[in-house]
Amino acid sequence: MTQFVILDLEWNTAYSRSKERFINEIIEFGAVKLDDELNVIDSFSSLVKPKIEKKLRSRVKNLTNISNQDVAEADGFLIVFERFLEWLDDGEEIMLMSWGDMDIRTLIDNCVYYYDNPRIPLVSKYFDLQSYFMLKKNLAKGQQISLSNAATLIEVDADKYTHHRALGDSELAAVCFRAVFDENDYLKYVLTCDDEFYERILFKPYIVTDINDILVDKTVLSCRCTECGMLANQTSDWKFVNNNFRAFYFCKSCKVRYRVQVQFKKAYTQLNIKKSVIKIENKVNKK
Ligand SMILES: [Zn+2]
Repeated sequence: MTQFVILDLEWNTAYSRSKERFINEIIEFGAVKLDDELNVIDSFSSLVKPKIEKKLRSRVKNLTNISNQDVAEADGFLIVFERFLEWLDDGEEIMLMSWGDMDIRTLIDNCVYYYDNPRIPLVSKYFDLQSYFMLKKNLAKGQQISLSNAATLIEVDADKYTHHRALGDSELAAVCFRAVFDENDYLKYVLTCDDEFYERILFKPYIVTDINDILVDKTVLSCRCTECGMLANQTSDWKFVNNNFRAFYFCKSCKVRYRVQVQFKKAYTQLNIKKSVIKIENKVNKK
């Protein structure tokens, strides 16, 4: 048997001087367990005392109504997470679910910070409720639907739940999941938390900044004249400006100048290339 657990977290963006990077520091855990009919049978809720940044950003305070004092009185991450794992562990295979993958990314990031290990103990499966909901409702992939908009779509009053708090949001996510759940297809979207799962989630997409990088496909760097279709001559070196490589080209036969911009962005499996060729209009020389 697989135990479905919906997790929702609240966090505060904190800068760790020792790690020299920003971390979404967890300040609240909320989770529910579901039975076979997807009813909530158990819940977990706890604030977390921050370690990196004691003061919450005002955006976080306004959104969650959690105060600096609330979290100051709570237990730290190591204690709360230990308690969460005890609550999680009931001898069954655990499938963790969250609305979008930010919560699991944040949990993994906190595990990296505290344990130098991204692995979430006990969890062997992961399911993105937001992606599944959008799929079942035929919503376009690009725009990620918020939990409250999803609730509106299925005519559920989101105000009945403590909005933007970890437990309330996980309860509401359970309602949204139940509304679209289909036992015949959901298994297709379950991810196994193996090495590749963690590699993929820890991978940070980046923009290539060195024109001599092995990822830079030189054939993409050419410029064809939009007037005559012939290859134009490069008249400047490639410069890296505003996350793009930029160079100028000139077509001798048409006497037209071009500005070419190319961006190479490395994602986990693919390289995304954006290219634009802009014709530079000749300014009329007024004397
Ligand atoms: Zn030309």
